[in-house]
Amino acid sequence: MASGLGRQIFKRTFASRPVDGFTGAVGNTPLIYLKGLSEKTGCRIFGKAEFQNPGGSVKDRAALGIVLDAEKRGRIKPGGTIVEGTAGNTGIGLAHVCRSRGYRCVIFMPNSQSQEKIDLLRMLGAEVYPVPAVAYENPKNYNHQAREFAEELENAIWTDQFDNTANTEAHYQTTGPEIWEQTEGKLDGFICATGTGGTLAGTGRFLKEKSGGKTQVWLADPPGSVLHSYVTSGGKLKDRTGSSITEGIGQGRITDNLRTFVNDVSGALHIPDEKSIAMVYEMLDTEGLYLGASSALNVVAAVELAQKLGKGSTVATILCDGAYRYQSRLFSKKWLQAKGLENSIPEHLRKYAVL
Ligand code: PMP
Repeated sequence: MASGLGRQIFKRTFASRPVDGFTGAVGNTPLIYLKGLSEKTGCRIFGKAEFQNPGGSVKDRAALGIVLDAEKRGRIKPGGTIVEGTAGNTGIGLAHVCRSRGYRCVIFMPNSQSQEKIDLLRMLGAEVYPVPAVAYENPKNYNHQAREFAEELENAIWTDQFDNTANTEAHYQTTGPEIWEQTEGKLDGFICATGTGGTLAGTGRFLKEKSGGKTQVWLADPPGSVLHSYVTSGGKLKDRTGSSITEGIGQGRITDNLRTFVNDVSGALHIPDEKSIAMVYEMLDTEGLYLGASSALNVVAAVELAQKLGKGSTVATILCDGAYRYQSRLFSKKWLQAKGLENSIPEHLRKYAVL
């Protein structure tokens, strides 16, 4: 089965028609067969190459979906302002969408974020307001400041990625159908971690509906997130404790996006940072894929789910973004030591930590 896929390597289908600008280039990403892990497990493990989106991450889909939905509903008119509270990929996706569709982009972010992210957003033409990094309950939290800023302007919207379900809808309409088509409907499991929950809820709902419930959809959770215990305890929300090196995932509440699907997940897996960091290095070494930590966590989870579903099963997950945005951490010996993670990376792979 594994070698069968190998034989098809140069039969890749190429896009037949040009696409319309940034908007047209979002989505239709390849589904990558992860050969080494598939052969090791006797299963078929696939990763959806979301790092190939034009803004570099899975969040391009949500950013575009939210803006197109707002346009369709007449919530925003040409020349308007789009405001979001975000520390990363959604802001980058929105900044691209705003440039390409002629909107002003305003981003509120916690002042704990790296200078690289602030610089990138500003280079993409966004106005960036770093604000104190305080909890959601505090009115000075970046999300609330974004909402208030938008409320005071004419022709402006707060995109509200966590609770705006146009985010989930973007994945229901694109990511889910693409994976279904790319696996020809032969998919036993889908699993990914969640930040807003849009990717899991939209992709998961489509796959579950389309397969008539045959495709199991699981949630993967990093340390410091409450969703694994929420699912496994039958719906009890505990206080958030602990933290993770993974960025962009983990959640302390049931967002509106997650609410549309969380009670339909088949199960949840908790993935510790030690396994995620080791997978960042393994993917680089064995597949030549330079992935961020949330992608690596997803791959660990896909392997564990495939093993649960049994030999010969097919499982897909999301490769959310590349390591470029995190490399000063993930590939720094000093940082790995400070996090106590150096020894989690197999000795023969530590040579990649060159920073
Ligand atoms: N990985 C990364 C790197 C992200 O930035 C995000 C979005 N915060 C996710 C995964 C999770 O995606 P979603 O918001 O759709 O749950």
